[in-house]
Formats: sequence, structure tokens, C-alpha cells
Amino acid sequence: MSDASPSLFTYPQGADPLRVLRQIWGYDAFRARQAEIISHVISGRDALVLMPTGGGKSLCYQIPALCRPGLGIVISPLIALMKDQVDALIQLGVKAAFLNSSLDRQDMQEIETRAIEGDLDLLYVAPERFANERFLNLLDRLSVSLFAIDEAHCVSQWGHDFRPDYRNLAQLSVRFPNVPRVALTATADGPTRRDIVENLSLTAAETFLSSFDRPNITYRVNSKSNPKQQMLDFIEREHTGDAGIVYCLSRKKTEETAAWLRDHGRDAVAYHAGLTSETRRQHQDRFLNEEGLIVCATIAFGMGIDKPNVRFVAHLSLPKSLEAYYQETGRAGRDGLSANAWMSYDRADVVALRSLMAQGGAPEAQKRIETAKLEAMLAFTETTLCRRQVLLEYFDEPLARPCGNCDTCLNPVPQWDATEAARKALSAVYRTEQIFGATHVIDVLMGRNSEKIRRFNHDKLSVYGIGADLGAAMWRSVFRQLIARGLLWVDTENYGSVKLTEACRPLLRGDTTIRMRKDPARPATGAEKSRKSGVNTHFDAPEDHALWEDLRQLRRRLAKQQAVPPYVIFTDRSLAEMVRDRPCSLDQMARINGVGASKLERYGLVFLDAIMKSR
Ligand code: ADP
Ligand code: ZN
Repeated sequence: MSDASPSLFTYPQGADPLRVLRQIWGYDAFRARQAEIISHVISGRDALVLMPTGGGKSLCYQIPALCRPGLGIVISPLIALMKDQVDALIQLGVKAAFLNSSLDRQDMQEIETRAIEGDLDLLYVAPERFANERFLNLLDRLSVSLFAIDEAHCVSQWGHDFRPDYRNLAQLSVRFPNVPRVALTATADGPTRRDIVENLSLTAAETFLSSFDRPNITYRVNSKSNPKQQMLDFIEREHTGDAGIVYCLSRKKTEETAAWLRDHGRDAVAYHAGLTSETRRQHQDRFLNEEGLIVCATIAFGMGIDKPNVRFVAHLSLPKSLEAYYQETGRAGRDGLSANAWMSYDRADVVALRSLMAQGGAPEAQKRIETAKLEAMLAFTETTLCRRQVLLEYFDEPLARPCGNCDTCLNPVPQWDATEAARKALSAVYRTEQIFGATHVIDVLMGRNSEKIRRFNHDKLSVYGIGADLGAAMWRSVFRQLIARGLLWVDTENYGSVKLTEACRPLLRGDTTIRMRKDPARPATGAEKSRKSGVNTHFDAPEDHALWEDLRQLRRRLAKQQAVPPYVIFTDRSLAEMVRDRPCSLDQMARINGVGASKLERYGLVFLDAIMKSR
């Protein structure tokens, strides 16, 4: 199909946004605050939009750009993604293009001409353009309908992704005072938000804050036994053929894990900052364009991964803060279908992270902040409450009721009264003088006969053997939870020895009791399933599953022909609805989520045909 989109229909100025949504995107209704934001921008006012990943930010400027006269300019920091976004719009029949350094002079010229002639509705540009007087002059000659500043946190030094070029955008309010500006981001903390308003002169903008809850993501945390095997079991049980991301702590681990997954019949590649940029680009391209690739990555992978059908994100080590955890898990299920955030962690992770922090050259104050963030992360992993409640509480968005879609809700955590055991553990730490690691203290508690115990005369202590009634796994669990709750801390600068904290006093004195989660003897099996999301991509009936695979195959073929990622043709959700509803006419096809006028015309018949054949 050609690049110049056939103009299938016109969306006249003043068109009703809901009609545009239905006709072009094929969606039924606006989500959350989209409708409000869209009519605010259409009326010509500025907006700051804070919405989680996958919340649907793009429509908040794309629809106003179509409903207002003139050309909508979208500023986006990621050149690699502009093409995908524009391809997706062209598929919808929208007149869109991008201008960035990947184009040659002639292509640029052509796009500028189209802009001047009014043959474009949306133009994506990189922020650098705004340092270029020639480009600004071009804008002066056009009628601009709005400026959308995507990933607006890039303007802030506090953000994780500062781009000096974003500072150029401050001039827009002066140079184009009558053009509405909408800034959008998924990073909502206070300092970043204030920076955006200040540095983009958005003081008059209304702020639209959406809930940061991602209800379609199921959160699960496991304690490690054999983490790679645990993960493989999880993937085989719930994600055969799905794309996913596995986060690992080190480059070496990403390589090992990818190789191990390949050995076990899964398609997997590594991604980290130590690979050449060419390899990184290849792996990222494969991830975007293939259906079932698993990327084992350090945190270097992710920013700007716009793939909507990442079905799971797995953590093989503990993220260093809940912010990081939220961001990384947020890359799953942007399409709103059920997705999994799965993690496996143990005490060694905590020790590794603490020592990384201790070694880092950060000033004391910053180290204290990092430590506090790690504590919050640990509390999340060990909670016996609803994980979503803990997570959202941390982001100042208390959730009234347990969510019903996390492991603690789905399988209420068995608990036990660990007061006695915890006191024994704390006393043993104290009696061995707080200079040994947990493993040795556990040996003492269990009354083991090791060389080290004899060397230090620990078999003479009153605590020797007082914990023989519990197994080693149980004791490891007790120590892990004592550390996670801050009753013990691990001194990474002294061989990982465990030490008492102030917080353990009441327990030692007998003033409080403590309940702990009982770790399952074996990892839970497939019984737990998300029950939230209405549409699922798992089909129990063989004929449904077969049709699902056929439709995916067809989508892959069409995508390949046009050199676009498969999800640009149809999303997983659209395909899943086709399997469920089995439309048998174009009219019925038009009712499938994501089938707008342009896609109906392009693909309606081929997909109907495939569905008919399966009968
Ligand atoms: P964000 O930029 O906020 O991460 P996107 O704008 O990419 O999210 O939207 C995520 C996905 O949700 C996209 O596939 C988009 O088409 C879809 N989407 C957005 N709004 C709606 C809606 N009102 N109804 C159905 N799907 C929607
Ligand atoms: Zn829950």
C-alpha cells in the first residue's frame, strides 16, 4: 500500500469527536478523561495530561487535530517510534507524516509542500527542529491547529529522561500565542510536574490527572527457589507464543537467561547497554515486528517501547524502587487486555542492591533516599495485603477496596504467627554478635555441626539448636521477611552480616507480635488467573485457538507486505473479538473494536474470508 493515504472520508472542522472516534478508530467510547481533555483542547485551551502508559494519551491530541482547522504538530523525542506512529495513522486513513533527521532532503521537501498545501492533518517532529529558524518560519506560514508535546517530562531535569532540546519549546507560547498546547506524560511526580508547567510556560493550562491504576495487569511476586525454572513454568503455563520482557540485574544475566530460554524452545534475545547499537536496534526491531519474542533486558530496554501487546513483564531480580517497578511492569498490556507482571526475588537481591547503592559514589542524602525507596519496594514484595492497594497508596492514590487481580487477592496469603520464630532469629543474631550472614545464623539456630560453628564456639550458645523444629527454607523465609520489614538490616560493607535495628526492640521486649506470610512449599500452579479483563487472548476451545492462530498468521503476512508491525494492522484485541464474535458480514465486522472505516475497507473482506473458512 502506498504511503500517501487515500482520502477515504473527510472529517470536517467542527466534527463531533465521538463520531471521529467511532468512524476512524472503530472504538465505541472514550476512556476515563479523554472526552473532557479532547473538548478542552478543541476549544483552544492548553492542557497538561497525566495518564499512565497505555491510558490512551495519543487520542487526546490526534482527535482535536482532526476536529480543528489546520495542521497538528506533535513533538516526540523518539525518532525510532515516529515512523510506527505515522504508519498506524496512515492505516486509519489519517493524513500524517513525520519530519526528522532520518529523511533525505527530497522527502523533507515533499512533506513541507504537503503541509503548506493543507494536505496533512498531523505532523510528527523531533524537538531539535525548534532550534531551526527555517522550520519556525515554515510554521509561521502554516495554520497550526495545536502543538502536542509528548513525553513532556523530558523537559525536566528531575525526570529520568532529560532532553535539553525540550527547553526550546518554551518559545511556542510567545511565538504562537493563539495555538493551544497540550503536554502529555506518564511521569507524574510533583517536582517533574512543576518543571513541565514552568519550562513550557503552561501556567494557564488545566491539568488532567488520570488514575494511575492499570486494572488489566495482574501483579504477582514469588519467592525464589529456582527462578529461571519458575519463570519458564509460568511462561509455558500462561504465555506460549506471547511477547514479553524479562528484566535482569546484570548484562551477564540477560545473556544467560536469553540463552537458557532459547535452549528451552523459546525465542529470546538479550538487550543491554553493552551491545553495539546495531545489535540493539535489531533486537528492538524484532521485538516490535514479531509476535512471540522475549527480550531479556537490563533497564536500558523499555523507554518508548510502544508495542501494545506485550503480554508479560517478568522480573528475575528486585527493581530498586516502586517507581521503577511501576514503569517496567507498565510496559505490559498497553492494549488493555489482561497481562501479567511476574516477579521472583530473594534475600540475595536485597543484598546485591544494597551493595550497589553503597558502592555508588552518590552523596549521603541521595543514598538515604535510595535506601528509603528500596525499603518501600521490599515492603511491597512482602505484603500480605492487596498489592495494587500498596502500590497505589505509594503513589498517593489510595484504592478503597482490594483489587481482586493480584496474587494476594486471588490466593489470599496463608499467614502464621511468627512471633516466637522471629524472637529466636533476632536473639541468635544478637548472640552471634551481629557479624555473621543469615546463612550462618540459621545454621546456629538449627543446631548444625559446621566447622565455622565449632571455630567460633557457637555450639555453646544458648540459642544453638533452638530452631531445630523449623526447616531451613522456613528460616530463610523468616530472615527475608525480617529484613524486608526493616527489623534486621544487611551490612553490605561488612560481608553481608545481619544486624538488629531499632525497630526490632518492641518485638524482642515482647510488646508486639508478628505475623508472616507462609511461603508455598512449591510455586503455585496455573489455578490463578486474571478475572478482570473482559477479553482474553487465551482460548480453551481448540477451534477458537485454531482461528486465533490463523488470524495472527494472516495479520503477520499483511504486516510483512507493508513493512509495518503486525499490531498496526489489527490489535490483539480486535483479533480476539473476531474469534469470539465470528462476524459474518462487513456490518458485523465494523462492530469489532478497532475496526474503523479505513481498516474495514482495507482488510474487512480478507479477515471475513478467513473466519468463514474456519467454520
Ligand atoms: P499511551 O500513549 O497513553 O501509552 P496510547 O495512546 O498508545 O497510550 O493508547 C494505548 C492503546 O489503547 C492504543 O492501542 C489505543 O489505540 C488504545 N485506545 C486508546 N483510547 C481508546 C478508547 N477510547 N477505546 C479503545 N481503545 C483505546
Ligand atoms: Zn489485589
